Amino acid sequence: MRNLDRRCFLQSTSLLGASLLLNRSTSTFAETELEPSTQWYRGNLHLHTQWSDGSPMPEWVVAWYKEKGYHFICTSDHNTFQSDTLQFNAWCGACETPKDLTAFEKLGSRWKQVMDPAWGRLTQVAVDQAAEKFGSDSLTSIVDADRKLYRLKTFDELSAQFSEPGKFLLFPSFEQTGQSQDRRQVHMNFINVRTFFPYIEGKNVQDTVDRTFDQGKELYHSNPEPYMFTLNHPIWPYYDVEPQTLIDNPAIRFCELNNNGLEYDRHPQGWDPEKFWDVANAFRVAAGQPLVLATGSDDEHSYTRKTPKAWIMVRAERLDFPSLYAAMERGDSYTSNGLDFETITFDRGNGKLSVKVKAEPNTSYRIEFFGTKKDFDRTCTWINVPEDKHPARSISSWSDQIGQRFQSVDGTGASYTLAEDDLYVRARVTKITDTQEYQEKYQLLLYPAAWTQPYSMLVR
Ligand SMILES: [Zn+2]
Ligand SMILES: [Zn+2]
Repeated sequence: MRNLDRRCFLQSTSLLGASLLLNRSTSTFAETELEPSTQWYRGNLHLHTQWSDGSPMPEWVVAWYKEKGYHFICTSDHNTFQSDTLQFNAWCGACETPKDLTAFEKLGSRWKQVMDPAWGRLTQVAVDQAAEKFGSDSLTSIVDADRKLYRLKTFDELSAQFSEPGKFLLFPSFEQTGQSQDRRQVHMNFINVRTFFPYIEGKNVQDTVDRTFDQGKELYHSNPEPYMFTLNHPIWPYYDVEPQTLIDNPAIRFCELNNNGLEYDRHPQGWDPEKFWDVANAFRVAAGQPLVLATGSDDEHSYTRKTPKAWIMVRAERLDFPSLYAAMERGDSYTSNGLDFETITFDRGNGKLSVKVKAEPNTSYRIEFFGTKKDFDRTCTWINVPEDKHPARSISSWSDQIGQRFQSVDGTGASYTLAEDDLYVRARVTKITDTQEYQEKYQLLLYPAAWTQPYSMLVR
């Protein structure tokens, strides 16, 4: 995404929002689910820094997003919070605890030692990058015996350095990272929390997710601000989390649709992330349970690309966590791999979902509406894949009636009105020039697209 385009877009939607705000008291939007009387904020709910296994120093990462026009990011390192507790036990590249801690104790935080490059270690490149950007004085180091240790900036220090009210905020977060006892990777983010807890290795995925969700509720429910729980990258590394997990725990509202930091293999007959989302929603809506809302993130570790790969846009009244969270919970957000919506409206009075694409010159767009009918085929068959380069897996396979294409329109604006027998509808925009082969090859990894949330007349 070109920054100039992004700025223009935000300015134009902000102006649009301001003009519509004036109309609000006339009850024009009384029947409209999504009130465009607010601003779109661009955010990343999932990323990594040297606090776990991201390559750059944390301040370099925060600046990277801020300079690219983001309004908020969540510093979701693996199984940690960027506190000032003195520690040497990093996720990767942990270093030996010094014998004399006197000098370190005064400074606190996590310390890492420069090592030969390997996943997650602190490298000289990362140190030099930070020194070049912020000056060598910005780095704190202590020579201990024959090695030099660098101090990582804490969340509070990063927040003080980069936050600008109304423009850019950091939210404290962590990614609960590990695997269940049956060796499935199960990762979940807790967002807007300042403490973490040990990974719960449940006996299987469901047990792990349910117990982690419940433990979070117990620890964070009385926090002064809301917190957010997301189920991350279910398809990674290879069909580790099945849609049944979300069907069986309808309290979980958010799941990563597009996580573009992790390459994954797709089984030719297996579900893809969109199908996963539709299966969960078809069963949930049919059972009167809340919709599963999508998030998008680039789960960045290496930051070698010039531009981020996926993000979430949230239409909120203010740039603060309670406002953003309330907006995300009511479905007032979309996820993107490079395209943008100018407007999204869902009229709860008549079930009409309307979208308008933020169009670029000389580009043709395809807007598709997907959903599931009430009488959908609920049959599930299992594809048994023997152990090969991945562990053995049984992959669920579902009817084409789930997440079927209701309507396709070539253009920059379209709408679809829910029929009596529709459970929900969602819209996706892609570029027509991106052929189907291209999209299938790259799946959700690279091709530009944007996805609205699903909307239903039956549940929210
Ligand atoms: Zn993860
Ligand atoms: Zn991650």
